Amino acid sequence: MCPHCGTLAWGAVDLSGRGTVYSFAVLHHPQNPQFDYPVIAALVELDEGIRLVTNLVELLPDEVEIGLPVEVCFEPTADGMAVPVFRPRVLERRQ
Ligand SMILES: [Zn+2]
Repeated sequence: MCPHCGTLAWGAVDLSGRGTVYSFAVLHHPQNPQFDYPVIAALVELDEGIRLVTNLVELLPDEVEIGLPVEVCFEPTADGMAVPVFRPRVLERRQ
C-alpha cells in the first residue's frame, strides 16, 4: 500500500542501477558454502531513493566506506537465476 495516498495500485519502474553505500557489515561467520568469505553485506541507497540489502563484490573489506559510489551487476545462482549485487562505480574522469 502506498504510504502517501493509500492506493493498492502498483507499477514497474526502470532503475538506473547506481547508488551509494548507506551502511555495511563484513561477515565472517556463520559460513554458508555457497559464499566466499568474508562477505560484504551492505545497504545500498539507489539514486532513485530506495535502499536495498545486497552484497558488495570486486573490492576488499577495507576498501568499503559509507557513501562509496556503486553500480549493480548480476551474479548467477546455483539454480540458474541471478541476484543483484553491487561493485564500485568507476567515476568518469574530468578533463
Ligand atoms: Zn501514492
